[in-house]
Amino acid sequence: MKNMLDYSVDELKEWLKDNGEKAFRGTQVFEWIYKGVYNFDDMKNIPGGTKKLLNDSFFLDIPEVVRRFDSQEGDTSKFLFKFKDGNIIESVVMKYKHGNSICISTQVGCRMGCSFCASTIGGMIRNLTPGEMLGQVIKASNEINERISNIVMMGSGEPLDNFDNVLKFITSVNSSIGLNIGQRHITLSTCGIVPKIKELADKNTQITLAISLHAPNDELRRTMMPIANKYSVKEIIESCKYYIKNTNRRITFEYALVNGINDSEELGEELGRLLKGLLCHVNLIPVNEIKENNLKKSSSENVRRFSNILLKNGIETTVRREMGADINAACGQLRRSYIEEDNNL
Ligand code: SAH
Repeated sequence: MKNMLDYSVDELKEWLKDNGEKAFRGTQVFEWIYKGVYNFDDMKNIPGGTKKLLNDSFFLDIPEVVRRFDSQEGDTSKFLFKFKDGNIIESVVMKYKHGNSICISTQVGCRMGCSFCASTIGGMIRNLTPGEMLGQVIKASNEINERISNIVMMGSGEPLDNFDNVLKFITSVNSSIGLNIGQRHITLSTCGIVPKIKELADKNTQITLAISLHAPNDELRRTMMPIANKYSVKEIIESCKYYIKNTNRRITFEYALVNGINDSEELGEELGRLLKGLLCHVNLIPVNEIKENNLKKSSSENVRRFSNILLKNGIETTVRREMGADINAACGQLRRSYIEEDNNL
């Protein structure tokens, strides 16, 4: 038995043909799934024999909503999803004027060990399959009853640590049946796994690459992100240049501002020097405080100062709007509080 969502529409059509069925049934089945019909028996235009074959060969791992939280402003919905094996992950939908965006998880937990991040605290449990990533988008879209037009891979997990599955997921959301979300509407965020960035660049994808930099030099970066012991800032910047050369796409650098750690004027200047002239954009994020550590977010004054230094250096910079703070929408916090609650029962 296989999760049908791990198949692209084309693969399903191929499979049907190989099994003596009409290929176009594959399109019909996917159309039902996207409409929120998850049971083959309820798919009205599918003949009985085909339904039986599908039931004997596939299941649909559309995650179950364990909890749903809607922010008071109504612009953010957070879902705690449960897969058939019982693993819990989280996804967040954010409503913007330009459309709905979903932040999905790519792994259950994470093994990157960043000091400020809640997703990594229990380590990595397992990779998510392409179908499990797709399932988050389909279920969330059906839950909010609206189309989702943008995907960001910024939930739990390191997407480049689950490279093949992530690539397959990108191809399947891209397919013309179903979600039809173009690559330019997909963002992959990485802590900076250099060889994989290069590999991604070689695929000539058009997705937006976001790099979690958080520090302009190796010394400081190593205190925040263990991956910095493996790849230097210099190597990351080189791989970004390669990505830009191959794809012509602007890179996003994420920088979580932590009070007294990485938000000084000097570090702002250093970051400015590092990124000057690069086709990029910096997203400053006042760090989301989590109870597992003592890190505090930078004051709004320091955020402004840091942002102004970058702007002065000619670097496009925005400060991320905080959405859904009232529902713990950030960075693995919900999954953790759910697991803790569960353990206390
Ligand atoms: N592993 C990937 C994607 C998941 S994390 C990566 O590292 O990019 C998504 C983003 O949220 C990253 O930029 C990450 O550094 C950031 N992040 C994690 N915990 C955070 C926190 N407590 N406050 C602000 N940003 C955080």
